[in-house]
Amino acid sequence: MSKVATPEQAKEYLNRFMEGLKRRNPGETEFHQAVYEVVQSIFPYIADKPRYHEKQILERMAEPDRIVSFRVCWEDDDGNVRVNRGYRIQNNNAIGPYKGGIRFHPSVTQSVLKFLAFEQTFKNSLTGLPMGGGKGGSDFNPKGKSDAEVNRFCQSFMTTLFHHIGPDMDVPAGDIGVGAREIGYMFGQYKRLTNQFVGVLTGKGLEFGGSLIRTEATGYGTVYMMENMLAVKKDGFEGKNCAVSGSGNVATYSVEKINQLGGKVVTLSDSSGYIHDKDGIDADKLAYVVDLKTVRRGRISEYAKEFGAEFHDGKRPWEVPCDLAFPCATQNEVSGADAKTLLKNGCIGVSEGANMPTEQDGIDAYLDAGILYAPSKAANAGGVAVSGLEMSQNSARISWSEEELQKLLRDTMKGIHDQCFEYGEEPGGRVNYLKGANTAGFVKVADAMLAYGVV
Ligand code: NDP
Repeated sequence: MSKVATPEQAKEYLNRFMEGLKRRNPGETEFHQAVYEVVQSIFPYIADKPRYHEKQILERMAEPDRIVSFRVCWEDDDGNVRVNRGYRIQNNNAIGPYKGGIRFHPSVTQSVLKFLAFEQTFKNSLTGLPMGGGKGGSDFNPKGKSDAEVNRFCQSFMTTLFHHIGPDMDVPAGDIGVGAREIGYMFGQYKRLTNQFVGVLTGKGLEFGGSLIRTEATGYGTVYMMENMLAVKKDGFEGKNCAVSGSGNVATYSVEKINQLGGKVVTLSDSSGYIHDKDGIDADKLAYVVDLKTVRRGRISEYAKEFGAEFHDGKRPWEVPCDLAFPCATQNEVSGADAKTLLKNGCIGVSEGANMPTEQDGIDAYLDAGILYAPSKAANAGGVAVSGLEMSQNSARISWSEEELQKLLRDTMKGIHDQCFEYGEEPGGRVNYLKGANTAGFVKVADAMLAYGVV
C-alpha cells in the first residue's frame, strides 16, 4: 500500500497487517499482542506519511533481524544431564548495538522473547541513547537450584551465546531470574572464552565494570515517570496509596522511591499470591523483602507471617483500593477485569514497571477512563538507560559518581515523559502516553532505517 488516507483504509491496512503477521508467526500470541499495541496506536501518525508505507518500515520492524536458538546442556548436583533451550532475539540494530535483557523462567518461549525484543526496540529509542533492541533467555528455572547448578547452567548458556554477542554487536543484561549472580557467572565465562575484558553485559558487579544505580534504575524510573505525569496535573505522591506487584528487582526499588517521595505502598506479590499491609511497607519491611527474595529466596507469604499482614493465596493485588498502581512482576498480570476493578476503586494512575503487564482490554479501559497511564516501554526505560550509561563508562574505562548518574536517570525519565507528552497530546488537553511512547520510539528507528535503504 502506497498511502493510508482515511480511517477506514487505515483499519483495513491494520487488519491485513495483523493477518499477515499471525500467518508468519503462528501461535506466538504474546508477539501478536505487542505488535498490535504498537501498530494500532501509531497508525494515526503515519497515516499521511507514505514514505513509511512505501518502504514497508512496520513490516520490517516486526521481522527480527535474527533469531538464535540453541541447546543448553548442564549437569545437576546429582549428576543428571539436563537440557534447556536458549535464545537470543536480535530484533533491530538501526540505531545502535542490540541491547536487552536475558530472562530465565519456565514460561520463556520464542513468542515471549520476540515480544520483549520488539518492545525493547521502541524503549531503547525513547531513551535517546544509541541502542538497538534485543532480548534473550531460556526456559531454565533458577528457583530451587543450588549456586553450583546455576553456575553450570550459565556457563553452558554463554558457551554458545558468546558467538553472537559483543560490546559493539549485542550487549545483554538481566531480567526475570537473571540478577547479579547470573550476570557474574555469564560475564566470567565470556571473559574466559574470549580472553577479553569488555563491556559485553550490563548489570555487572561494581568490582568488574558495573555502574552505580543500575540495580535501582528500573524501579526508580518507573516512579519518576509517574511523578512527571502527576506534576503535569499539579499533583504528587504525598498521601497516595500505591499498589505494587512483584517482589523482585523492579518492585522493590519502586517501593523504595515511592516511600522517598511520600507515597504509601500497601501491596507486594509473587507468583503464589499477594500481601496487603494496610500500615504500609516502610524501609525496614522492604529490607526484609530484599533479604527474603535475594538471599533466602523465599516466598512473599512469609512477609505476612513476619509483620501480621494479610496474604491472599493465588490472587493479584489489583482488588486492593489504591490511588496509583505499579505492575512490576510480569506480562499480562493485569486483565481487563483487573483494570476495571482498579478504576472502580478510584485508581488515577498506572505506571508499568514490568513489560506489557496489562492486557489490551485493560489498556483500552485506562485510555477510555483518561487516567494517567505510562506504558512499560516508557515507564521502565530507566533500567536500560543506565545500562546504556554503563556501556559508555566501560568503553571510556571510567566510572561516574552516584550523584551524576542519579541526575542522568532523572533527566532521562523527564525526557521520555516529555517526548510521550509531545506525541501523545490530544484535542481537549488529554495526553495519550501510549500513543506518544510508541510514536516517539518509532520515528527515530524508522528514519534511521529509511537512511539505510532496503536492508
Ligand atoms: P525479578 O526476577 O527480580 O522479579 C520478578 C518478580 O515477578 C518476582 O516477584 C516473581 O515472583 C514475580 N513473577 C514472575 N512471574 C510471575 C507470574 N507468572 N505471576 C506472578 N508473579 C510473577 O525480575 P525483575 O524485577 O527484574 O523484572 C520484573 C519485570 O520488569 C519483568 O517484566 C521484566 O521484564 C521487567 N523489567 C525489568 C528490568 C530490570 O532492570 N530488571 C528492566 C525493564 C523491565 P516469583 O519469585 O514467585 O517468581
